[in-house]
Amino acid sequence: MRVRSASGLIGYLYAGWLYIALLWVDADHRRSGIGTTLITEAEQRAIAFGCHSAFVDTFSFQGPDFYPRFGYEVFGVFDYPPDHQRLFFRKRLSAGEAWMAMRLEGSCRCGAVGFTVDRHTPYPYQRCYCSICRKSAGGGGYAINIMGLADTLKIRGKRALGVWNAPIDGRLGSADRYYCKKCGTPLWVSDEHWPELMHPFASAIDTELPSPPKSVHLLLRDKAGWVEPQIGPDDDCFDGYPQLSIEEWHKKNGLWVD
Ligand SMILES: [Zn+2]
Ligand SMILES: [Zn+2]
Repeated sequence: MRVRSASGLIGYLYAGWLYIALLWVDADHRRSGIGTTLITEAEQRAIAFGCHSAFVDTFSFQGPDFYPRFGYEVFGVFDYPPDHQRLFFRKRLSAGEAWMAMRLEGSCRCGAVGFTVDRHTPYPYQRCYCSICRKSAGGGGYAINIMGLADTLKIRGKRALGVWNAPIDGRLGSADRYYCKKCGTPLWVSDEHWPELMHPFASAIDTELPSPPKSVHLLLRDKAGWVEPQIGPDDDCFDGYPQLSIEEWHKKNGLWVD
């Protein structure tokens, strides 16, 4: 067997912290930028999983100048006699990340309607294939609903705001669907069962959203025949509704933002 040279990073995520346990760069690849790529990639993934900080430790003879180049600061030192030290570094990751912001901004395509709303649940992970979502807001065969706090909703351009209700089995549904009367953009859904919440369509959001680490596909029983759902290895699929609410999913996956 021929062993090719390799480089890599092993990190652990726990309770909002990325711990860089191991970073190695093969001798053939030193100074090629691979170390930088690995650290940056690990930090980005940690941020996507909701981490706020990273830490790492290294020995004084291993290259203590490496981590400070990426903004890491020493917060602890152990002496290893006779003359070595073990250095602990940390770095704040998420400060300034746009998608960590509590406030979402959204608008229609023509600009007549805009809105802001606060939320704790940033990930657009839920794909709904029901006939209402896919006909009214889902050109790809599904719509992506996210979630905001109804009492923080502020609307600009209310005169252009339209609302309709999709009857289900001949009866008025519990959800009101808001859209722009001028350009037709679907904006959000408000459901009388959850008056404290509102559900914007991710497609109407202007604030940058994080890519979800996995998705939930729901109401697949109503899927159009031509649609081939793109189901990732960690995705969950449901013929009807998923077990977890948007809040529960974020909390279970450690992605809830306070
Ligand atoms: Zn519009
Ligand atoms: Zn739907």
